[in-house]
Amino acid sequence: MTTSSSSSSASHNAPHSALPRIAVLATGGTIAGSAQDATSTAGYQAGVVGVGQLLAAVPALSTLANIHAEQVASIDSKDMSLALWTTLAQRVNKLLASDDIDGIVITHGTDTLEETAYLLHLTVKSAKPVVLTAAMRPSSALSADGPLNLLNAVSVAAHRAAHGQGVLVAFNNRIHSARDVVKTSTFAVDAFQSPEVGALGWVQDGRVEFQRRVVRPHTTATEFAIEATANDAWPAVEIVTSYAGVTRVMVDALVKDGVRGIVVAGTGNGSIHVSLQQGLADAVAQGIAVVRASRVGSGHVMHNGAASDDALGFVSANALNAYKARVLLMLALAAGNPARAALQDVFDLY
Ligand code: ASP
Repeated sequence: MTTSSSSSSASHNAPHSALPRIAVLATGGTIAGSAQDATSTAGYQAGVVGVGQLLAAVPALSTLANIHAEQVASIDSKDMSLALWTTLAQRVNKLLASDDIDGIVITHGTDTLEETAYLLHLTVKSAKPVVLTAAMRPSSALSADGPLNLLNAVSVAAHRAAHGQGVLVAFNNRIHSARDVVKTSTFAVDAFQSPEVGALGWVQDGRVEFQRRVVRPHTTATEFAIEATANDAWPAVEIVTSYAGVTRVMVDALVKDGVRGIVVAGTGNGSIHVSLQQGLADAVAQGIAVVRASRVGSGHVMHNGAASDDALGFVSANALNAYKARVLLMLALAAGNPARAALQDVFDLY
């Protein structure tokens, strides 16, 4: 096992040549959280335990893989930044380009895990496994879930069946696709689900089983490159929500602020209150891309064609929630200035 901050590295266990070589990139989160008291699962500080300590809590890792560890960040993932996304994706691509690394595990906070996972799903340029994991209970808690999640994530990253499946999330014994997975509980240990489609498979006691494959293009099959977002070149894209009595005030403020895109988390099948809809139609007229997602949490948003999307200039988000739709919209805008029809194709494809 080797450990490093983003700039240095060191050895933990003597490498075993037959084992897969897995890089563990730590970014913080509750999995690296600590509280004063073992009975406290909510009052803790995220991202304070280093990657060396996380790995030391799981001695069985040394039987699964030769681990190279890096501390990429130590944050609460609620504070994830676009700059850190760029750094992380570039680091993943660099490590995977090396013959010395067979797969990557990323430890992350649960709050924005689904966004980071989808970003990597679209921008990693390798078929080697990339697996995110996290925890709902801090490392200091009774029945902390982090160590087993970490062990399972390494099992998945080290398994040949994980090749070519895009970015995966291993959490609470299940394996999810980055595109499908969402956080669905504020406190339960079973906090991640893939609504409508279900998990890809499961992992238990070192046994990894996939029940289906990921069919939409990802990683090496996308047109997106993280390099397009380097040097703060992320296009400004924000999210608004439709609800009873909503006004267009926020949309008008965003337009004034110069955003390039707005994702709207609509009601039901992405329907939008008439006041908000007029604000968004006016935004389209100013050249801003508007994508319709849903606040519902499962299902997809159908393209409305002539009835509204075509008439108003909106794009529908398919099955992506608003947060993932924002990731895709940012990448698509960073890659160029697609016309609305081309943008709809992007959302229908990915
Ligand atoms: N706030 C924490 C984070 O996202 C929550 C967690 O990891 O469960 O970093």
